[in-house]
Amino acid sequence: MESNKTFTMIKPDAVANGHIGAILDKITKSGFKIVALKYTALSAQKAGEFYAVHAGRPFYNDLVTFMSSGPIVAAILEKDNAVADFRTLIGATDPSKAEPGTIRALFAKSIDANAVHGSDSDENAQIEGSFFFSAFEKF
Ligand code: UDP
Ligand code: MG
Repeated sequence: MESNKTFTMIKPDAVANGHIGAILDKITKSGFKIVALKYTALSAQKAGEFYAVHAGRPFYNDLVTFMSSGPIVAAILEKDNAVADFRTLIGATDPSKAEPGTIRALFAKSIDANAVHGSDSDENAQIEGSFFFSAFEKF
């Protein structure tokens, strides 16, 4: 399992608020190389599949509605220790608890509309990257 790749999405709130450029700039300046990049949108069905691990949690239906409410940016990122370092860069799930300077502290408004996704393990980074990108779209 690769330990140098992670997967991210810039979520609909951050896209709608005009933060795509600032977030990608912060990601690349923090040492992550962009391996794959796509401006796209999730249908409710696709959002439900992506977050299937959370099915049954109280926030699941709202999460699916939110994640299919507008376009997103999906990306595979490469760096040593990518998964853990990217989780540090984005900060806590609840932006009010995120460290100052983290992407969620800077760009997120609430625990549900929290600007970015970051994979939580090497295994999920692989699964999530493959959800969006074929082998021909990774460089
Ligand atoms: N979420 C939410 N309410 C919660 C917990 C999570 O709306 O109480 C949403 C939020 O958008 C979060 C996503 O569900 O990013 C996935 O939750 P997870 O616990 O995996 O947080 P993450 O890994 O994104 O920090
Ligand atoms: Mg998670």
